[in-house]
Amino acid sequence: MQHGDIFHPDFKPSPYWWEAYRPLPGDLIAVPKVARVAIIGGGYAGLSAALELSKQGVDAVVFERGALGEGASTRNGGAVSGGVNIGKSFSGRTVAVDPERAGRMLSDGFDAFALVERLIAEEGIDCFWQKRGRFQGAWTPAHFAFQQSRLAALNDAAQSGAYMVPREEQRTEIASDYYYGGMVVERSASLHPALYYKGLLDACRRRGIAVCAKAAVEQIAHGGAGWRLTTSRGAIEAGDVIIATNGYTGTLTPRLRRRVVPIASHIIATEELSVDLAACLVPKGRTLSDTKRVLCYYRMSPDGRRMVFGGRARFTQADPLLCARVLYDYMIQRFPQLKGVRITHGWTGNTAFTLDALPHMGEDEGLHYALGCNGSGIAMMTYLGYQTARKIARAANYACAFDGPDFPDHPLYSGNPWFLPLIGSYYRLRDRLDRVLA
Ligand SMILES: Cc1cc2nc3c(=O)[nH]c(=O)nc-3n(C[C@H](O)[C@H](O)[C@H](O)COP(=O)(O)OP(=O)(O)OC[C@H]3O[C@@H](n4cnc5c(N)ncnc54)[C@H](O)[C@@H]3O)c2cc1C
Repeated sequence: MQHGDIFHPDFKPSPYWWEAYRPLPGDLIAVPKVARVAIIGGGYAGLSAALELSKQGVDAVVFERGALGEGASTRNGGAVSGGVNIGKSFSGRTVAVDPERAGRMLSDGFDAFALVERLIAEEGIDCFWQKRGRFQGAWTPAHFAFQQSRLAALNDAAQSGAYMVPREEQRTEIASDYYYGGMVVERSASLHPALYYKGLLDACRRRGIAVCAKAAVEQIAHGGAGWRLTTSRGAIEAGDVIIATNGYTGTLTPRLRRRVVPIASHIIATEELSVDLAACLVPKGRTLSDTKRVLCYYRMSPDGRRMVFGGRARFTQADPLLCARVLYDYMIQRFPQLKGVRITHGWTGNTAFTLDALPHMGEDEGLHYALGCNGSGIAMMTYLGYQTARKIARAANYACAFDGPDFPDHPLYSGNPWFLPLIGSYYRLRDRLDRVLA
């Protein structure tokens, strides 16, 4: 099969999820003159912060540069876990985390997962929430052993329901022999990311929260009751400001931009598969990922008919057709039985990695921030928005484990991740070597 044939005639270079909810500016709400809190970034973090502030009786306005949901929050894979990858930075460097704090982080991860589940129930969000667990395939026997070494921490602090599946039993999880066994985490789920987003947006609207689309914040300065923000559609004064721009953090906040590395991730969706083929690929309907440095993550679509397959085809934004071809090859390596199936959608979005691989909330020169999903932020960014809101409303009765002044930067990083293609090539080489030497 030629690569040209992998594209369905109706191929769209946009998210499959947008068939159900497409980010739109909607009727543009006028920018209010004053608010108690101004939130910059209208993704999960921004909306969940606004929602919690409203529940606490604090009025907030959300500013979104593009259409509502245009960032990562309607583009992701929809795999929900509360897991935090403590101790390994994106550059592979090991980062020391005090064991007591690491335990609190895992426990907050547990709470993050519970928060998503609660919001979906409380707000009646119809987003195909399915609690069927996750399988993480081990790329080498050493990776399998490493996964095994993490079980106790995952189960003790985060009650993850994690257990190992040896290679001989792997086909109970995935119709593939690609891995050396792997780990199941029962306390994981999947959802339709754009419908979850729409549900949060609807909840904000029901509460009368102003969510201003096409309102890029261009300047933040001290003034009025605290801050004066200039947006592309007017100015506002606010007592507090929350930065919730994650992988789209730009020159507006240069100090924060130096602390997050925007890394692109790419996804394809296949055409509908035959019923028999669709039913056998992922027998338990789990979400899947692997332990490779250049990892892939995948799942069946909510209706169980399509493979939705993501990964770091490139580490930066790149031509969707090129990335789709790379992802297609990765998919066929895992599922040779999908050869010949065509792709209907291919898209890309930005995640935000931090230099210590940890999500962060806190205050920088008086600005609140919730940033750094490190690739996995449906639960975590919803949670950090919520926790930031509770902190501002003085409703938090304990400090979130991700709140603190230690948000590392690097003297050689100014916010331009020019080095990512080099890291991508290096990681691919390391992945190959790991397998050859296994
Ligand atoms: C392809 C892909 C796959 C992923 N898969 C998963 C997954 O399976 N599971 C998981 O848990 N996580 C996944 N993630 C990560 C997850 O999507 C993110 O962590 C989450 O959506 C981040 O939410 P957020 O609100 O922090 O940021 P975003 O949703 O990215 O929103 C930030 C917003 O800030 C806006 N903004 C920036 N600057 C300004 C400004 N000056 N003024 C106004 N607005 C501004 C941007 O336009 C953007 O809309 C994935 C991400 C991608 C890209």
